[in-house]
Amino acid sequence: MNKIILFYKYIEIPYPKQVMKWQQQICQDLQLKGRILISHEGINGTLGGLSENLDQYKNLMSEHELFGNIDFKESAGGPECFPRLSVKVRNEAVSLGIPYDALTPRNAGQHLSPEQTHELIATQPEDLVILDARNNYEWAIGKFENAITPNIENFRDLPQYLEENLEQFADKQVLMYCTGGIRCERASAYLNEKNIAKKVYQMDGGIHRYVEQYPDGFFRGKNYVFDGRIAVKVNDDIIGSCSICTQPCDDYHNCLNAMCNEHFIACVACIEKLEKTCSKECQTLLAENKVAMRPEFNKSCHI
Ligand SMILES: [Zn+2]
Ligand SMILES: [Zn+2]
Repeated sequence: MNKIILFYKYIEIPYPKQVMKWQQQICQDLQLKGRILISHEGINGTLGGLSENLDQYKNLMSEHELFGNIDFKESAGGPECFPRLSVKVRNEAVSLGIPYDALTPRNAGQHLSPEQTHELIATQPEDLVILDARNNYEWAIGKFENAITPNIENFRDLPQYLEENLEQFADKQVLMYCTGGIRCERASAYLNEKNIAKKVYQMDGGIHRYVEQYPDGFFRGKNYVFDGRIAVKVNDDIIGSCSICTQPCDDYHNCLNAMCNEHFIACVACIEKLEKTCSKECQTLLAENKVAMRPEFNKSCHI
């Protein structure tokens, strides 16, 4: 049996390069694939592999002086959902573009468990604002009902969005969420430090943990993920729409024109008509051999 694990931990890592080499070694030994980012502020990873090997990975982590008590989230999938193993040292565990010393999770919003999250939303307080801290292509196919969805393409654009829209949060209870919780640790700290909201909360474990408890709750649609699965279906609601004909649809494709590689939502009829490209222009360029064809996506990643 295969599976995928998702995890993070904010902790001061004095020697990230040393941790990187150790991670490369154990992941290779356990034949894991995926992506691990290590920085002075912590570790952030997604790995696919055999269940028993991932359990062994978790044991090795828990024995390490820095990496005990990690909340490992598990889901269906496997190593085939990743092109390779990539272990890298970065400035930040997740890229916000703000030095760690200037913004740390120490000032983060209060964590709410899935149960507390569900209860807060269910009681419908008038001053509650739900804020999606993810990118536009993520919330386009799934989100919490009535959430504010910033039109940003990168997490590092969120601070500017918050700056320009602070009045939306004035005297409100703000409930922030992201995929697994890592982004909210610092994004909620950013909002908290503005001292404008009445209260700032973050969903502990993000969408992942909430939908495990409440698959038919206040989150509707699919949960976008950053591997070959692209998205994990949570319930039957279709939140997105085909970018070509606008009918309800939540299936992503990448344009077959290697020079374009646009990531877009398209229905079966439109994608067939455009021969897996995003537009008539890309279709024509490919047909006339003026551009290279992007290697097709790994189809073995099924969940
Ligand atoms: Zn369509
Ligand atoms: Zn294209």
